[in-house]
Amino acid sequence: MDTNFFPESLHRLPELARNLLWSWRPSLENVFESLDRKLWEETEHNPARLLAETKNLPGAAEDPEFLEIYERAVGEMDVYLADASTWMEATYPEAAASGGVAYFSAEFGLHESLPIYSGGLGVLAGDHVKSASDLGLPLTGVGILYAQGYFRQRIGADGRQSEVYEAFTPETRPLEAATDEDGNEAYVSVELPGRELRLKVWRVRVGRVSIFLLDADVPGNSDDDRRLTSRLYGGGEHMRISQEIILGVGGVRALRKVGPSPAVFHMNEGHAAFLALERMREAVEGGSSFGEAKRSVKATTVFTTHTPVPAGHDAFDGDLFWEFLSGWPESLSTDGDALWRLGESGGRFNMTRLAMNLSTSQNAVSEIHGEVSRAMLDGPVKHITNGVHTWSWLSPRMRNLFEKHARGRAWTRCPETPSAWSFVEEVPDEELWTAHAETKRETCAFINARLETQSRRVGGRPQALDPDALIIGFARRFATYKRATLLLSDPGRLRRITGDPSRPVQFVFAGKAHPADEPGKEFISSLHAAAEEYGLGASVVVLEDYDMNIARHLVRGVDVWMNNPRRPLEASGTSGQKASLNGIPNFSVLDGWWPEAYNGKNGWAIGEGVELDSEEAQDAADVESLYEILENSIVPLFYERSGDVPHGWAAVMKESISTVAPEFSTQRMVQDYTHKLYVPNGLMP
Ligand SMILES: *Cc1c(COP(=O)(O)O)cnc(C)c1O
Repeated sequence: MDTNFFPESLHRLPELARNLLWSWRPSLENVFESLDRKLWEETEHNPARLLAETKNLPGAAEDPEFLEIYERAVGEMDVYLADASTWMEATYPEAAASGGVAYFSAEFGLHESLPIYSGGLGVLAGDHVKSASDLGLPLTGVGILYAQGYFRQRIGADGRQSEVYEAFTPETRPLEAATDEDGNEAYVSVELPGRELRLKVWRVRVGRVSIFLLDADVPGNSDDDRRLTSRLYGGGEHMRISQEIILGVGGVRALRKVGPSPAVFHMNEGHAAFLALERMREAVEGGSSFGEAKRSVKATTVFTTHTPVPAGHDAFDGDLFWEFLSGWPESLSTDGDALWRLGESGGRFNMTRLAMNLSTSQNAVSEIHGEVSRAMLDGPVKHITNGVHTWSWLSPRMRNLFEKHARGRAWTRCPETPSAWSFVEEVPDEELWTAHAETKRETCAFINARLETQSRRVGGRPQALDPDALIIGFARRFATYKRATLLLSDPGRLRRITGDPSRPVQFVFAGKAHPADEPGKEFISSLHAAAEEYGLGASVVVLEDYDMNIARHLVRGVDVWMNNPRRPLEASGTSGQKASLNGIPNFSVLDGWWPEAYNGKNGWAIGEGVELDSEEAQDAADVESLYEILENSIVPLFYERSGDVPHGWAAVMKESISTVAPEFSTQRMVQDYTHKLYVPNGLMP
């Protein structure tokens, strides 16, 4: 972005655009929306493109109304960034001034305008960073800039998923080149077999926090090498190990060049574990022995695991591993055996094992996942349950309503405090219901426009959501364990549930299947075919290209959030937390985070207390429970009105908000990480 181009009265617009603070502050986002509403939608809420392409700047520079919005936003950003009275300042003043935490993650889900995430892991990392910023925790993120992101999903006339890859240039994204002390653009390099790979370092500003992203698409690298960072979770094993070297080794080198000097290193999933080898190499270079280096690195590294299935953990065969890491025994002043043993598991080099061996603390992401991980990884794995960033996921209407009723109370600063949400009980049902109904209408309009484009493209019949129907949302990755098609087990019964004209029910599905996951893709086709095949019409709707934008609309604007994974394979799940926060009760198998939240009044539990040995029997029992709850609880309660208002339903909404919002916020989660992991393992001087 060329700042000279900007009228003097708007000269800080590029700065506003380059700090993703706008993504969770409506009054900042409003600047872009007010500047050019049409282009804001067309660019998919990308302020870098908006500022480059809009023709409205000269007019805006003279428009007193716009200038007021702009100046208020700049003022709000300045106050936020300069605020010295943060939670961290108050709680750990010495640590607030330290080099802080380095948080390494293969994906970050911050906003749809920066598509470097695939699903829950990335969104969790993004929410972690945003809460670190809100809390004043000194944290620096490290990741990869994928030139084509994950992929854009298209669903054909036959219901088949196809993947579309769109390259983006970093210049059209809310990013900037990272610079070193002398103001030069920063580059680092890593060793790959027979060559050096050059990496450019980019910087994303997220409130007070920076994330550094590595990019191999730079002159000097071969064409093949330039593609090493093109896709998230794409390519084969060579690409995977290369990306993990880029993230771990390149990431540490990038921090040394442009970042602070972190006191604690956090590996978010095993992808990042090579960071420990690079830090050991530094220690050996500084005179330590292999054993000393291992001890010192381990003492200041923490590791979070997210995967309850063994196949989900990256592992490399010896041949591949030694092709890429042959130089490392010497750099670490040791032999091949000792290096191999750091990650060996079942005859392969396992990144989770490496992370376990080179971290002082290991944690899972829910209580159940902790139990599973302790058994699977054979180690003292603790748990810190995931949460969501309240301000990124709470709808504007609910936020306004809450602001009105919480007047004078601390909820905006301390959303993690249960008592801060006690006002929810006092919100009149009528007001809660009106706010929900209006949001739901907006969500339906948004989704129906998408569905129309989708069906026009494939020449199909458009489906639409009816804002007066009971709408049940199901959106997440199409991984098979999530059993998206369970609902279709008894089409006749499903038709009876959805087809009552006085009490219509609709299901909206969205989600991507990994390009190599054929069974996951089959699920999408089956759901797509259900409308025709079982005469379900528009009762089952499948929306393509799930991303954070669609997620935001769905978790605030449907009526119920459904989740029916096969227990205990959902490590945590977080979309249900986003929904609950907006008064969309969770209707879920007691897996992941839900058993910790469910109290019988804040949503529904599918298959409660039934644990069977065979998958078939479990599926049958779960779907029986699912239908039964829909028929006897959810549908009748939703349609029980007095006037227009469903008072019984509103009670569930309120219970859902007040029990889930505080405990399952990343504000609580990042405080837990700080108290339990960061401070004891090096953050305090
Ligand atoms: C929150 C979120 C997820 C995670 O959903 P789960 O419930 O954990 O499966 C995935 N994708 C997007 C875009 C999200 O916003």
